Amino acid sequence: MNNQITYSPAYTIVPTYECFNRCDYCNFRKDIGSDFTLSISDAKDILLGLSNQEISEILILSGEVALNSPQRDEWFSRILKICELALSLGFLPHGNVGILKYSEMEQLKEVNVSLGLMLEQITPKLLETVHKNAPSKVPELRIQQLELAGKLQIPFTTGLLLGIGETEAEREESLNAIAEIQQRWGHIQEVILQPHSQGTQQNYHNPNFSLSELPRIVATARKILPDTITIQVPPNLITQPNILLECLDAGARDLGGISPIDEVNPDYIHPTAQFLAKIIEPAGWKLIPRLPIYPQYYSWLSSSLQQKVKAKEKVLRTLSQSNQVLH
Ligand code: SF4
Repeated sequence: MNNQITYSPAYTIVPTYECFNRCDYCNFRKDIGSDFTLSISDAKDILLGLSNQEISEILILSGEVALNSPQRDEWFSRILKICELALSLGFLPHGNVGILKYSEMEQLKEVNVSLGLMLEQITPKLLETVHKNAPSKVPELRIQQLELAGKLQIPFTTGLLLGIGETEAEREESLNAIAEIQQRWGHIQEVILQPHSQGTQQNYHNPNFSLSELPRIVATARKILPDTITIQVPPNLITQPNILLECLDAGARDLGGISPIDEVNPDYIHPTAQFLAKIIEPAGWKLIPRLPIYPQYYSWLSSSLQQKVKAKEKVLRTLSQSNQVLH
């Protein structure tokens, strides 16, 4: 049995918290005009200050600017520059910046090793509730983005947000939609199953998704999704260790990016890798770091990105071996 559970040593850079959508459960966004935009020199200072050699992934997570906004070009060019900067300093960017135009996705492919966008749920009824003020959350638009990434051969992370008003059958429909897209393009490396977890900034006051249901949903996802997709669960939102272990037993194999702050759920601090190892290793699992791109996709990258990935892989392998010696 493969007993390996992976995580990605990561750091999150936020170009802007401003977002033209207003999802009711959001704990991230700020109103347009209220936030500062991260300057390139500040981004550089942050990246140069990262002392943990293990960090390979820089998650570039941004609030969205409308596709037709006059501010769009400036917003996008800043994101591109931050990706280029992260690459030049030896990190591997993974962008998650919302809905993209075809030409934007093409450009991001050149400076990211993978991209991400949560499908969340495909039922249109959420457009009348939690997504009533979120034009980017039209299900067809998000499905189109997943298809586009497949067409462009971009390794991709997507996922479901659980407990925002969907039924069990609707969850399965969302999983089936991802499975169909994967059969067409084969680019989805991970699916995150994210339980809605109340934060202090949101407007949505439904209770937290019941964690005791999560292992069963992991098992359902494992049945529906092709084996080529790894199931990820976020350990900071699974506050009960026994449930985390049950999720692994049900088929989850990845714990996602572990960075100092979960910018999407800032009220839920990420446990360290050492803390997680203490939970899962007594049960027979082995926690290992990974890169933000899975090896089967290396050949999809440009040769310059492949070189950077291989260099980082070597560093990670050396660090993992020396950690094992220390254990
Ligand atoms: S969840 Fe994402 S798209 Fe929705 S308001 Fe928050 S930042 Fe914007």
